[in-house]
Amino acid sequence: MINNKLIENFYSASVLVFHMLIIKCSKCKRKIYKYVKIGKGQLIRCWKNRIVEDNCIVEGKIIKCACGNIIGTDEGNFIKIKSSAIIISGTKQ
Ligand SMILES: [Zn+2]
Repeated sequence: MINNKLIENFYSASVLVFHMLIIKCSKCKRKIYKYVKIGKGQLIRCWKNRIVEDNCIVEGKIIKCACGNIIGTDEGNFIKIKSSAIIISGTKQ
């Protein structure tokens, strides 16, 4: 008996695209995160285990830039990103 789910997972894993993104503050253009994004689509969450470089300021659950701009909120395993507060640049790896 062939496990279809297993084949599906294997197939999707083989077509994954990794992007190294630089996430900057939209106000002062400081670099906030260097982040590895998997796949296409809008950046809504930043998974903590994929953040390579971290320059943010943490105030409880609020994630800020050094200039005071609120970047997002800490949701445990990930940062929920406020998309209007950031600028994303990056290269395909
Ligand atoms: Zn800033």
